[in-house]
Amino acid sequence: MATDVAIATRTMTRPWNFSAGPAMLPQAVLDSIHDELPDYQGTGISMLEMGHRTETFAALMVQAEADLRELMDIPEQYAVLFLHGGASLQFAMAPLNLLGSRETASYINTGLWSAKAIKEAGNFCRVQVAADAAASNYTTIPPAAQWHVPADSAFLHYTVNETIGGVEFHWVPHVDQMPLVADMTSMILSRPVEVRHHALIYAGAQKNLGIAGLSLVIADRNALHKPPAGTPSMLDLQTHIEAGSLYNTPPVFAWYVTAKMLAWVKAEGGVSAFAERNRRKAALLYETIDASNLYRNLVQRDCRSWMSVPFTLADHSLEPLFLQEAAQAGLLGLAGHRSAGGLRACIYNAMPESGVRQLSEFMREFERVRA
Ligand code: PMP
Repeated sequence: MATDVAIATRTMTRPWNFSAGPAMLPQAVLDSIHDELPDYQGTGISMLEMGHRTETFAALMVQAEADLRELMDIPEQYAVLFLHGGASLQFAMAPLNLLGSRETASYINTGLWSAKAIKEAGNFCRVQVAADAAASNYTTIPPAAQWHVPADSAFLHYTVNETIGGVEFHWVPHVDQMPLVADMTSMILSRPVEVRHHALIYAGAQKNLGIAGLSLVIADRNALHKPPAGTPSMLDLQTHIEAGSLYNTPPVFAWYVTAKMLAWVKAEGGVSAFAERNRRKAALLYETIDASNLYRNLVQRDCRSWMSVPFTLADHSLEPLFLQEAAQAGLLGLAGHRSAGGLRACIYNAMPESGVRQLSEFMREFERVRA
């Protein structure tokens, strides 16, 4: 792949960054930010100093939204919002804006991020855990036939990719007429997803969409309800819809980086092209793990993540040495989440196949020499 070679050549002295987020950015995006930093497109000022109500920023906003709509095939009736607060604030805003007069919301618990969403929703409604993967220690997705989603639930929430556990839905749940809410933080734009089957989608930007400080919300306008009286205006999605995401000062620079990421995804062939690349990247890493006697990934094969691949070493005591030697080989950010331990490679869109190949080669060599 021409781009892959180009990136590999340019980054020969740069390490590969496998961190979960903030995560690696494409070299082309970094270069463009670098070039534009002192003087954004002849305006004489930097995007770090750019007013959010300037014509310059308005043009960028329009382009970013158009690019996202095109990339994800977002229907007109959906609002696209660029907000503060990270994905974690959406754990609260989703129930606040979707419950209406209903008292129950259903959640699928596939791991730590689902659990966080569930805990937060418990502040606003009765939470029905419609399915819980606890019995498999969160290495599976319970089959939909076993879910218990009460018909009076306001919505059904699922975490498309569990960034810590490495469990990913490769299918979109359908439960009768139930509005569907998806946390797409760690897989958005990694492959095509049917937006129209969702009432609400949210994602923190610091993985496939750019840098920390921005979160994306895609909301079916018809699915929203007025939040309870006393809800702060900032937590009412309608506030942001009416203000075009400019109710208050937005994270201008993070938005700018997202605009660059969207343009880059388009230039690289769009979401389907990334799906192909990501499938191959993940396959190579899981093949490396499965073929070895040292590395283990316990996630059931049909729900293994394409984006975040956790693994352990059969001899745990070798993990610090693995991390140390990996860093020396220019492979960074491979420690597992602090709550899970072990190791993890996040291979978001910005990670080219050459980076994953290098990791795979390092893993095989480490096993040969050390295990
Ligand atoms: N959901 C998922 C799946 C995540 O991976 C993360 C962050 N790693 C979050 C939610 C929380 O995102 P934020 O830090 O932007 O609040």
